[in-house]
Amino acid sequence: MWQAPLLAATAIGTHLVMSASQTLLHRWMGHRSWGGRFFRNHIDFHHHLYARGHLTSAVYRGEEGNNTPFFLIPTLLVAGGLFFVLPLGMFLAMALAAVVSFRAHVYFDKVYHVAGSPLERFAWFRRKQRMHFVHHLHANTNFAVIDFFWDRLFGTYRAPDDESR
Ligand SMILES: [Zn+2]
Ligand SMILES: [Zn+2]
Repeated sequence: MWQAPLLAATAIGTHLVMSASQTLLHRWMGHRSWGGRFFRNHIDFHHHLYARGHLTSAVYRGEEGNNTPFFLIPTLLVAGGLFFVLPLGMFLAMALAAVVSFRAHVYFDKVYHVAGSPLERFAWFRRKQRMHFVHHLHANTNFAVIDFFWDRLFGTYRAPDDESR
């Protein structure tokens, strides 16, 4: 019975590693000129398509110049390496959590920019969406897509302007 908490901790830990990596890579590759192609793709497409005054569109735009597929490569390499290290149950929990977390990051980054998405009825979603829009207005803040506590930890958090905190 000790296995269930261990597997849950593995899954949560995997998601936290994924969301921390996303936050840091977004900051250090997507927004720094040494990020090369990643930098140009991110600024020319995602930030250009969605900027002040037009933060949403009816359907998501930006399949072109999308960096996300490239991050599958290091993710698969790390996951593949862990296959030889972790017990099978932990490996499966890690792999499943990595897939879910990866897809959740891709999904949220898109749906934030789709006007009238079904998730907009949820207050927690609207709050995350506002925090992501802050990134589009102040590009040196709020690099996370899902877990904005990383930005608080790394000192890059900025609350939406209509909040006092
Ligand atoms: Zn960005
Ligand atoms: Zn965005």
